[in-house]
Amino acid sequence: SSYRSGPQVCIVGAGPAGFYAAMHLTKKLKSVNIDILEKLPVPFGLIRYGVAPDHPEVKNVINQFTKVAQQPNVNFYGNITLGKDVHLHQLRQHYDAVLLSYGAEEDKTLGIENEDATNVIAARRFVGWYNGLPSDKDLKVHFVHVMLTYLAEQQLFLVKEMLPLDVARILLMPIDELKKTDITEHALCALSESKLKEVYLVGRRGPLQVAFTIKELREQLKLKNCRTIWNDKDFIDVDKIVPDLPRPRKRLTELMLKSVNENQALTDDDQTKYFKPVFFRSPNKFLVDNNNHLTGIELTCTKLVGDKLEEQRCVPTGEKDIINCNLAFRSIGYKSVQADKDLILKHGVVENNKGIVEDSAGLGKLYVAGWLGTGPVGVILHTMGNAFQVAKVMLENLSSTDNFNKGGFTEIKKIITENNSNVIDWGGWEKIDKFEKDQGKIKGKPREKVCSVEKMIELAKK
Ligand code: FAD
Repeated sequence: SSYRSGPQVCIVGAGPAGFYAAMHLTKKLKSVNIDILEKLPVPFGLIRYGVAPDHPEVKNVINQFTKVAQQPNVNFYGNITLGKDVHLHQLRQHYDAVLLSYGAEEDKTLGIENEDATNVIAARRFVGWYNGLPSDKDLKVHFVHVMLTYLAEQQLFLVKEMLPLDVARILLMPIDELKKTDITEHALCALSESKLKEVYLVGRRGPLQVAFTIKELREQLKLKNCRTIWNDKDFIDVDKIVPDLPRPRKRLTELMLKSVNENQALTDDDQTKYFKPVFFRSPNKFLVDNNNHLTGIELTCTKLVGDKLEEQRCVPTGEKDIINCNLAFRSIGYKSVQADKDLILKHGVVENNKGIVEDSAGLGKLYVAGWLGTGPVGVILHTMGNAFQVAKVMLENLSSTDNFNKGGFTEIKKIITENNSNVIDWGGWEKIDKFEKDQGKIKGKPREKVCSVEKMIELAKK
């Protein structure tokens, strides 16, 4: 093609990091040729499989990414897994630069007793289940009377952990409202049959350290037929600290205090569900019956020590508490996997310097962006900032030479088709996309996601 004279860039992972990097590179370097390789037949990573179904406005970035992918010098190649269909050294051999942006898929475990019990579930997998991620579509969730979601490791004023409130909201939201979203049919069925009454949200620290945003809390408090019950004791003296808090934290805390006071005035009926945030508790062990089914969770009570709010540490008080529940979601963070044997990960991320991974002589330069390089922190906006920054560094390096002669995907395709003949291009994704939207129209929702890779491939190849 006419773009052959420019550098060949390979991006692995079609989530926000990969797309934002491609956006920046194509804007600044017209001669660049970009191939985006993605494990799934479909693009967009956690925009499609993480963001809550009732937040369609967050998914609007998909429109920008689509424009990026439709440029003549950008190619999407889905259903290609790094480490399985193609190896890192092969990509580095045939591209001038390789950017890894394959995210952080694995969830961290608590490492406590009976964590393998039936109905102790990674919240991330539950999210994958209701969002139609093929690998989570068969997750077994036994909906029973009392539930618990668990939010630990709330980092002091640091991480915006969106997930636990997403999960609580989806569990407690009226089915009629969920129906209008792109939540998968199997999740809708299961949720409409669930007899769920209560959801606890357990945090190690106090109300001043919560990791959700005011917008999320507002949504939660506004849920129809749901009453939020706070533990008054958790809020002792909080009102005295409020005036000195930084503004966002102040407004969030004021909203909580307002809700604590409002609670008493409400009356319940048999439709009412309950959301119960519980602070100063850390899970000690899961309690199970003879069949290894979850029956409850033993918690260690905690308190904060230290004078300065930002420097307070959480320590156990020695007291114990038990919450009876039959389903627990764990949400304490994620880590990246080692997709390729040539990659070195430390504490779940690929070590890098401003996105540059240590060089190997003679091979195309290696970069990392998004959660794989930063760790699983922050919202899409953070990921965008990081991806732009890494793309800038890539540009500087690519601009310092004008001798480009790598084969790019022409060479990679030879390697891939030996074992895998089902590479899905952007046209293939557009067919899947159209099918999903058509199916959604019939049901009065934005789309009905296809949840099986085989079906996706079949649609794309039509
Ligand atoms: P990802 O989005 O995970 O993309 C990685 C891509 O790489 C995926 O498409 C994956 O399939 C692919 N891949 C993985 N392994 C391989 C391989 N071996 N070979 C090829 N491809 C591979 N942020 C917000 O701003 N708003 C929200 O509402 C919001 N909700 C969230 C909900 C959840 C459950 C989670 C976990 C995060 C949420 N975030 C939200 C944060 C946001 O999703 C992240 O900031 C962002 O997705 C990180 O982008 P990424 O490209 O690094 O990773």
